[in-house]
Amino acid sequence: MPQASAQYGEVRHDWTRQQVLDLFAMPFNDLLFTAQQVHRQHFDPNRVQVSTLCSIKTGACPEDCTYCPQSARYDTGLEREKLMKVEAVVEEARAAKASGATRFCMGAAWRSPKKKDMAYVTQMVKEVKALGLETCMTLGMLSDDQAKDLADAGLDYYNHNLDTSPEYYGEIITTRTYEDRLNTLSNVRAAGMKVCAGGIIGLGEGEKDRAGLLAQLANLPEQPESVPINMLVKVAGTPLANNEDLDPFEFIRCIAVARIMMPKSHVRLSAGREAMNDEMQSLAFLAGANSIFYGEKLLTTGNPEANKDMQLFARLGIKPEEYHQHEDEAEVAAGLEAQISEQQNDPYFYDAAKA
Ligand code: SF4
Repeated sequence: MPQASAQYGEVRHDWTRQQVLDLFAMPFNDLLFTAQQVHRQHFDPNRVQVSTLCSIKTGACPEDCTYCPQSARYDTGLEREKLMKVEAVVEEARAAKASGATRFCMGAAWRSPKKKDMAYVTQMVKEVKALGLETCMTLGMLSDDQAKDLADAGLDYYNHNLDTSPEYYGEIITTRTYEDRLNTLSNVRAAGMKVCAGGIIGLGEGEKDRAGLLAQLANLPEQPESVPINMLVKVAGTPLANNEDLDPFEFIRCIAVARIMMPKSHVRLSAGREAMNDEMQSLAFLAGANSIFYGEKLLTTGNPEANKDMQLFARLGIKPEEYHQHEDEAEVAAGLEAQISEQQNDPYFYDAAKA
């Protein structure tokens, strides 16, 4: 039986690939038990952080990420949209807050923001933050000056994923290097923002690549506060459209290993959640996932409808994590909890807690 409390639960930056592979090789039940023990050392196991994502500029991206329907190089039928107006973004943020989100993430399909774009995106940050929401952006690569400008505007988090292991990376994208990605993460840190960085599972990588990705993330000078683990969404027209389906247990293993290696980070169920049934999502929570995107479409791929999420939360006795930096946090949490209890009035709703 693994001794989680003695062996795991501390933040470490010296993970070897073999140590990570050894975690992946654990029997499934032992791995989940260990991950859950680590999870309980740092988090309330029945709280999940809820973010909403808004695509502020969609499609026509010059990069060649082989999984992405937003790349201009692939014909996926995606409708391109210009950069949204600041007021329209603020309107979306207001609606997200009303439906209970505590963090509002804004994504633009760019290689990196241009000079002319920076004035708009910094204004978006200021106005969304003024609503009492945490702010996150994903805009591609950032120079140190751009990172400083976003931090000065009040941006809390910046998302930039490493996608996969350094060795497999060249199979997935050729228009920016792994080093470019690490430089952006280091510029974000140096500017004082929190880091959201993770990867994608199901790209055709092997377990050693999943181990390599997680070792890269955990061994960063400071571990990312937020670690999205995406499951590939196979979009027709992209080069990965016909990839083999991933064994769902491999995905859950990856969540559990991420939880053990980055014990204080929020591990997020991100793209691909729509393809997961309730049982798989609840296994992911048991493995240590404690953040989801809620309600909105996840950039350009579907996300389960908001009330289905709330019904699952209610069935599992999970409550949304509160955001502690604003006076109106209680109002936000109350809104979300009201939605959960509304679900309980549904005649078909099964309340496991009362069974
Ligand atoms: S993942 Fe980002 S950078 Fe890559 S093609 Fe899609 S939008 Fe562009």
